[in-house]
Amino acid sequence: MKAVIAGGGIGGMTAAICLARIGWQVEVLEQAPEISEIGAGLQISPNGTRILAEIGVMPLLQDTMFQPETIEMRIGATGRQIFRLPIRKAATERWGAPYIQIHRADLLAALTRRVSDFPDAALRVNSKVTGYRRSDRSVSVTLAGGAAIKADLLIGADGIHSAVRTAMLGPDRPRFTGNVAWRAVVDADALGDLAPPPTGCIWAGPGKHAVTTRIRAGRMVNFVGIVETDRWDGEGWSIEGSKEAALTDFGGWSPTFTAIIEQTPRLFRWALCDRAPLPRWSDGPVALLGDAAHPMLPMMAQGAVQAIEDGCVLARELAGEGAPALACQRYFNARIDRATRIQATSAANARLFHRRGAAAQLASYGPIWLADKLMPGLLLARNDWIYGRG
Ligand SMILES: Cc1cc2nc3c(=O)[nH]c(=O)nc-3n(C[C@H](O)[C@H](O)[C@H](O)COP(=O)(O)OP(=O)(O)OC[C@H]3O[C@@H](n4cnc5c(N)ncnc54)[C@H](O)[C@@H]3O)c2cc1C
Repeated sequence: MKAVIAGGGIGGMTAAICLARIGWQVEVLEQAPEISEIGAGLQISPNGTRILAEIGVMPLLQDTMFQPETIEMRIGATGRQIFRLPIRKAATERWGAPYIQIHRADLLAALTRRVSDFPDAALRVNSKVTGYRRSDRSVSVTLAGGAAIKADLLIGADGIHSAVRTAMLGPDRPRFTGNVAWRAVVDADALGDLAPPPTGCIWAGPGKHAVTTRIRAGRMVNFVGIVETDRWDGEGWSIEGSKEAALTDFGGWSPTFTAIIEQTPRLFRWALCDRAPLPRWSDGPVALLGDAAHPMLPMMAQGAVQAIEDGCVLARELAGEGAPALACQRYFNARIDRATRIQATSAANARLFHRRGAAAQLASYGPIWLADKLMPGLLLARNDWIYGRG
């Protein structure tokens, strides 16, 4: 059986490994000329690393990943801590797999290396998928330039602006969520004493929040700063941003943020988009996964992790009874409720992290602070449905 996968991102490459492991021939078509550095840091929670371990990718991450001892939440302007969870210990003891922070390029490099272990799996760059034609049992995938490739299955893992999704469900635009994200990576040594703690830290503030993590084995600080705004006036959905504009957003916070913005070689600004849950993710032997199926705000750090889960579940269903079209339908049924719940929880977290005014902050963060002091197990248990085995 042969699968074509549109998109060599985290979802597409994970799916390629999962399918190759069950004996499929796989061809990944990536539009870019190379797998690029863009995207910066990702947190991959135990529900993702458990799968990466099963498919033989975790050993390839040992030199580049970082395992924080804790994740915490602080007030951005003062640095005052609201809660602190012992994530490293909890991840392995409670959820059975590590919680890691990693550069997207390092994760992609490891996935690409693992794909190359399978003689029947190939990655083709400079290959843009434009659409498909299908029958009940096969699909003809069309590429820019007019070539077509025949396969038993097409997976649309081509991100939020998915061409496969458009071919399946018709044209529409992802929704701008009213948030833009700043992203920067900076050498931890260059920040000296102003480096943020080596944790996963959410910094909350009125109408904005930031997340600091460590990547490249802890040597680099990754900064994501999310700010509410009325409109997105960039030409693309990701553009290079100016330090002055980032300082306007975060300059009044702890000096850590001024240092990060001043020291980073480049800043990127991203429009954060999502999409209402789709009525279906499959059309005969064609299935969507990752951001193509369920783009979400990054406030649960689950977009890439859910793409990893998708690839694993789709392969499990393909290994079962019946034709690929039936397996694609079962895959959607297995995944839709969880993906929709995580999309909704991510949006709710955006509101929680952006509380305006002292009274609203106290009402929201006071109980969390108290729970952290009196019942730390409760805060961990709130994550069981997502990080645990379900
Ligand atoms: C600020 C920010 C922080 C985030 N932090 C986290 C985090 O900590 N943890 C987490 O799990 N997630 C996080 N995410 C989400 C995560 O980055 C995405 O959900 C994830 O990368 C989606 O993976 P994907 O493979 O579905 O799509 P993508 O990563 O978008 O990959 C799609 C690939 O398809 C290619 N492509 C597109 N169109 C075509 C075509 N027509 N033909 C061929 N190839 C095509 C693209 O070039 C790309 O390589 C974050 C997102 C943002 C914006």
